[in-house]
Amino acid sequence: MAGVKIDGKVIAQSVKDRVKKAVLELKTQDINPCLATILVGENPASATYVKNKHIACEEVGIITKDHKLASNITQMELNKIIDNLNTDNSVHGILVQLPLPEQLDEFATTSRISPLKDVDGLTPHNAGLLAMKKAALVACTPSGVMEMFDFHKIDLEGKNVVLINRSNLVGKPLYHLLLEKNATVITCHSKTKNITEFCKSADIIITAVGDRNKFTLTPEMIKDGAIVIDVAISRFQEKLVGDSDYDKIIQKASFATPVPGGVGPMTVAMLLKNTITAASLSSQIGR
Ligand code: NAP
Repeated sequence: MAGVKIDGKVIAQSVKDRVKKAVLELKTQDINPCLATILVGENPASATYVKNKHIACEEVGIITKDHKLASNITQMELNKIIDNLNTDNSVHGILVQLPLPEQLDEFATTSRISPLKDVDGLTPHNAGLLAMKKAALVACTPSGVMEMFDFHKIDLEGKNVVLINRSNLVGKPLYHLLLEKNATVITCHSKTKNITEFCKSADIIITAVGDRNKFTLTPEMIKDGAIVIDVAISRFQEKLVGDSDYDKIIQKASFATPVPGGVGPMTVAMLLKNTITAASLSSQIGR
């Protein structure tokens, strides 16, 4: 029997509904949640991502401030814009859309954002807090995956989880979040030997390679009833795909996410949730 689809659109909507209520509540305290976005250059994919984030904010009542910057901006100029947003009391969240043009340093740029306004959860401060189980603002895609487990009441305690990714954006934050839920986590990457053996013994596989020429998760690699979360998005043979073929995987898995319509919508929903958290934090510290 085929497994259950983990529908990112439905779960993201449930998060957005909660955010909408939280926005109304914050407004009664004279707090108007506001997200500032910074887009450098003309990358069409990045422009679309930022536009979709603005639309999502509008849907739930979050104000946006849009900063479109020339592709040849210097690091110093960009830093100054971030510094101004850091001290602007009407702004609660700051998002710098990645990737940045070559002359700019992504680590220096994200590190410049005030940890209290770091709605992407990518500053070293917030990454460190996450490792110490103290984070308020967690990277959006990993927290979106955790929201999917919550929604389907999937208990992670004692489960063997195989993570196929070790990036700062996906694998590392997920590792800490899963550990917090008492899962046993194995992290695989491009240098891991015998990935199939790890996958075959996993109760849950979270895969985020994003290149079908390098890696595909096939039904033969998972055990019956495993849960498969496919974070990857890439183009392959003219199609938008994950690391696995949902239609095939779901025949063997107990739960699986499709691509598109799985983890993707969760990332935007969690950005909205983080903006609300940041706005609440600002009221708690009396700004
Ligand atoms: P990344 O930094 O390139 O990470 C890719 C990971 O895959 C790395 O840890 C890499 O290992 C590993 N890898 C590469 N080849 C492998 C192989 N043959 N076997 C096993 N592991 C291999 O990318 P990312 O930013 O984490 O994103 C990963 C994917 O998730 C992309 O498709 C991206 O578009 C997608 N994504 C989706 C969302 C969403 O909202 N759905 C959000 C973020 C990312 P090494 O560390 O050894 O290089």
